[in-house]
Amino acid sequence: ATPMSIMVATGKGAMLGVLFKNAEAIETMRMVDTLVVDKTGTLTEGKPKLTNVIAADGWNEKDLLAYAGGLERSSEHPLAAAIVSGAEERGVDLKKAEDFASHTGKGVSGMIDAKKVLLGNRRLLEEFEVVPDNLDDEVRKLRDEGKTAMFVAIDGEAAGIVSVSDPIKETTSEAMEKLHEEGIRIVMLTGDSEVTAAAVAKKLGIDDVVAEVMPEDKANAVKRLQDQGNIVAMAGDGINDAPALAQAQVGIAMGTGTDVAMESASVTLVKGDLRGIVRAIKLSKATMRNIK
Ligand code: ADP
Ligand code: MG
Repeated sequence: ATPMSIMVATGKGAMLGVLFKNAEAIETMRMVDTLVVDKTGTLTEGKPKLTNVIAADGWNEKDLLAYAGGLERSSEHPLAAAIVSGAEERGVDLKKAEDFASHTGKGVSGMIDAKKVLLGNRRLLEEFEVVPDNLDDEVRKLRDEGKTAMFVAIDGEAAGIVSVSDPIKETTSEAMEKLHEEGIRIVMLTGDSEVTAAAVAKKLGIDDVVAEVMPEDKANAVKRLQDQGNIVAMAGDGINDAPALAQAQVGIAMGTGTDVAMESASVTLVKGDLRGIVRAIKLSKATMRNIK
């Protein structure tokens, strides 16, 4: 495209809340056939709220929240904020944790009341050889509703579940429909469980799901799709998404997300409105048509 047509497209994009970082992004967008999209903070608002607390036999909900909230006070994960404020709203006094550790992509651990406490997914429990079979049915039910459910283990015993729910952005559903009209295949990429991911994907008509992905494997998932011959755009908001945004032919960051994501992407959607991706594709097509 000519420098002039690129300037025009950049200006039009900016008015529509789509910031292109370079000419290549404008030129490539029209060729994209696959959109990989992060779940939390990209499809959803990224502001999870505590919804359910379920105690296993021998435990009670208040204590469970006191332990879970006590641990999460030291974590910076969005899930942690949901659990801490949920516990406080329910009038629970958070317990003091020692030896706090964060296990990326799995959860958190620490010592409370001289007991070893774990909070996170099945992988975290496996690492500490805790088997949460007693909670399987309850976890399944919550995840089928699209909620993110985490296990609490105390001294080697699965003591309960806490779950959070993160609302889907008001604009996401329409964005997914319009992307499909443009012939784009949509693949959700998430560190969350298979069941939760499938429930959210079903609600939005998303074509494929890659779930339970460790943060460092997100870029590999994009690369695999490229190796199959797809032209891939990746949309994400988190630090975890940055390598995948850089790997994709077009990286699309949420203006509502982290700086690292925006630095790694060539397009930023100012308000995190995914309908901006459709606008970017249309602008790209119009720009490239003009020069032929
Ligand atoms: P994503 O950002 O895609 O949701 P992460 O890789 O950050 O995924 O986390 C994957 C999973 O690990 C979460 O769904 C949760 O089960 C568990 N997890 C991660 N961090 C925490 C935390 N601070 N507290 C509890 N669970 C956590
Ligand atoms: Mg995210």
